[in-house]
Amino acid sequence: MTTNNTADCNETGKAACAGLAVANVGQAPDNPLASRNRRPMGTVVDIDGVKVGTTEIVIMAGPCSVESAEQILRIAREIKAVGATVLRGGAFKPRTSPYDFQGLGKIGLEYLRAASCNTGLKVVTEVLDPRDVELVAEYADCLQVGSRNMQNYPLLREVGRASKPVLLKRGFSATYKEFLLAVEYIMAEGNEQVILCERGIRGLSDELRFTLDLNAVPYLKEKTHLPVIVDPSHGTGSARLVPAMSRAAIACGADGLIIETHYCPQDSISDAVQTLSTAEFAQLINELAAVAKAVGRRVPLSPAG
Ligand code: PEP
Ligand code: MN
Repeated sequence: MTTNNTADCNETGKAACAGLAVANVGQAPDNPLASRNRRPMGTVVDIDGVKVGTTEIVIMAGPCSVESAEQILRIAREIKAVGATVLRGGAFKPRTSPYDFQGLGKIGLEYLRAASCNTGLKVVTEVLDPRDVELVAEYADCLQVGSRNMQNYPLLREVGRASKPVLLKRGFSATYKEFLLAVEYIMAEGNEQVILCERGIRGLSDELRFTLDLNAVPYLKEKTHLPVIVDPSHGTGSARLVPAMSRAAIACGADGLIIETHYCPQDSISDAVQTLSTAEFAQLINELAAVAKAVGRRVPLSPAG
């Protein structure tokens, strides 16, 4: 009897699952808020006047970590001169080892703000902890949620309640579905200003740090109405590969790039090997103009744009 009941239950369960699967087809999408159907023309995210998701490619650049007031100001000036409009740099760093440099914290935010006031560049910087969202939002123009925190649901909810745009980086082991559901956590709190960032996933490459999954760009743009940018620095882990993958990202439809840049990469406290020199960065921006033009986009300040 018990055996029969169990068998019956299993059969009933299977039938119910099959029924659910059928019922789900054509029902509310998994991504009610981020779905492209909701805004077929796409969303433009406004980082205090810098628009992400237009024909103009947005260039975000700066060091992995904010190291000093002089360092961030010099980098800000050099990247601005060649077309960057957003300054990146971590004040709160998610380091694999707790013994490595963890960032300057609040003073780093102050240095970022000072560099922004001096140059007019907007600031994107990472917030690691839900308790710091208010503080980081005071200094930043855009809140970055890093790869390791893509599924930190309390943090996603907290940035969803902030009044600043959010740059959400894909978890390096996250599926597209998980990425898209993470976005819903932010948007469900009322913040619709979200930029998605493909930053590389764990692949089979044993020589490179990550594998930049450029499939994500056209896929996410088809599925969602949100702008999609690419981080070729973390995505490759190698400065030598950054120019080629930046060109590829623009060619496949990215709305922007976020590139680690320093006047003296080898002196960077973190991520030195994947950081471009400001001279290499300038050269890259020049090269991007032709690619952007070929796909009906523009790169700021470029003669070919
Ligand atoms: C970063 O941009 O500084 C960073 C830590 O990136 P990710 O979260 O993609 O590793
Ligand atoms: Mn970095």
